[in-house]
Amino acid sequence: MSELSDLYQQVILDHNKKPRNFRKLDEPTRTVQGLNPLCGDQLTLYVDLDGDRITDISFQGSGCAISRASASMMTDSLKGKTTAEAEQLFEGVHRMLTSDTSEPVNTEGLGKLAVLSGVREFPTRVKCASLSWHALRNALKGEGSKVSTE
Ligand code: ZN
Repeated sequence: MSELSDLYQQVILDHNKKPRNFRKLDEPTRTVQGLNPLCGDQLTLYVDLDGDRITDISFQGSGCAISRASASMMTDSLKGKTTAEAEQLFEGVHRMLTSDTSEPVNTEGLGKLAVLSGVREFPTRVKCASLSWHALRNALKGEGSKVSTE
């Protein structure tokens, strides 16, 4: 097993056990519910915006380890970021998760989120990892309060 997959396992387990920002916001600017029917993952994402800056972000819900860890890491990475920076991270994560496994994985600019690249080896789990990110995108665009991976 490569070093990255070792790290991947550890990080996923750690975030699953102790998810960061796992709480409700009192009066969030945006609330989006995400559902991944394939696996049964569901989460509610709360975002506080001050102008175009994410001042606070949190989530609640139930789902598999990958969906929880991904949401936990996402909220960790996005606090204090601008919506444009968040959109860039979304693009980067999406590219990383959906790229062809025959090509070297591109994790440029993703920082700690790079450990999620391990997920692309398991196509059925990609939707688990991207659920929170799709909810984020809806939240940032203010497009609807529900998102499904189907
Ligand atoms: Zn899942």
